[in-house]
Amino acid sequence: MSDKGQRMIYLDHAATTAVDPRVVEAMLPYWTTQYGNASSIYRLGRQSRQAMEQARRDVADILGAQPEEIVFTGCGSESDNLALRGTAWASRQKGNHIITTPIEHHAISHTLLQLADHFGYEITYVPVDQYGVVNPDDVGRAITDKTVLVTIMYANNEVGTIEPIAEIAKIARAKGVPFHTDAVQAGGSLDLNVERLGVDLLSLSAHKFYGPKGIGLLYVRRGTPLLPTNTGGGQEMGLRAGTENVAYMVGLATALKLAYAHLEENNRRIALLRDQLIRGVLSSVQYAHLTGHSTQRLSNNASFVFDYIEGESILLGLDAQGVAASSGSACSTGEAEPSHVLTAMGIPPRRAYGSLRLSLGNENTAQDVQDVVAMLPGIVHKLQQMSPLCPGATALA
Ligand code: PLP
Repeated sequence: MSDKGQRMIYLDHAATTAVDPRVVEAMLPYWTTQYGNASSIYRLGRQSRQAMEQARRDVADILGAQPEEIVFTGCGSESDNLALRGTAWASRQKGNHIITTPIEHHAISHTLLQLADHFGYEITYVPVDQYGVVNPDDVGRAITDKTVLVTIMYANNEVGTIEPIAEIAKIARAKGVPFHTDAVQAGGSLDLNVERLGVDLLSLSAHKFYGPKGIGLLYVRRGTPLLPTNTGGGQEMGLRAGTENVAYMVGLATALKLAYAHLEENNRRIALLRDQLIRGVLSSVQYAHLTGHSTQRLSNNASFVFDYIEGESILLGLDAQGVAASSGSACSTGEAEPSHVLTAMGIPPRRAYGSLRLSLGNENTAQDVQDVVAMLPGIVHKLQQMSPLCPGATALA
């Protein structure tokens, strides 16, 4: 329910999700009765350690990894920071070149900017096409003998485009360069098996798949050069110091297990809603365009641009009717610039300003989709009428 007593339709699962009650249940004992420090040698501590190691094994099983290759962190951003800074520092003798794309989340792009601006790293941005897809051959061509890392996201957070990660990983491996993927948006809906993907480093964040906010992980393939960015007590295989947050580790593992227990069934149901939403919006809203790839996209992502309006105003219009959605990425709210993802895909800035991301989740129904498809044309039309640029607009801005 919204604060006006309206039914709320939550369509912002790419920003975050509610914690599954089964996850909360699994976490509770580790705050109240089994609160021991996992490094303590008495029973209370040993129980915490057992719970933590079980969580690590559960996650490793889903990733097809070894438990000691799973490093728990404080969030997806921290995982990305550790992957980038950690490899850059560890490989300083080899070189100072990193390859990425222009559509990464700021957890990647801002970290790379810092490495470039303050530490002399050179960053190559391989382009994306109009759907946001990277060409793996471009990555191969960009690798030099100074390249210490390739980092390319698994799925984009704004437009939902899925990148050809396995192909890119194969190319990087053939040239002996570690490959990191930011899989934060892929967690809970795409295959995370690190052998099939061939990745060396992979970031996840629990709050995107019905786990708690404030915990993530970095998969680190054994032998990958990586220095810790948080030093101290030697926890997490010496790669992330700090007393272990056992309750959150259990929460992440429980949420991941739940997501992967019914993966195909969930994806099928949500993709059906997504396709109804996309068809409904494109056929009923004037000057609407789908952004991202039509098929190579996350099962829950329906993202658009609408001509002659600003995304923020659509969000306010939707909010007034009880719908929670996003314009581009939630992390960039407040920025006056159009989305860097959309402009990298060649969408002109004036059109990129009118972006809307609707991201579905477990609790959404066909009724939610119908309701949004019914209300959106009116909201968009009213706003377009206020633009002096819109053909046939009747009012002045
Ligand atoms: N990477 C991507 C692709 C994301 O979408 C996000 C969050 O939206 C992050 C990283 C950051 O994750 P966290 O919020 O856990 O720091």
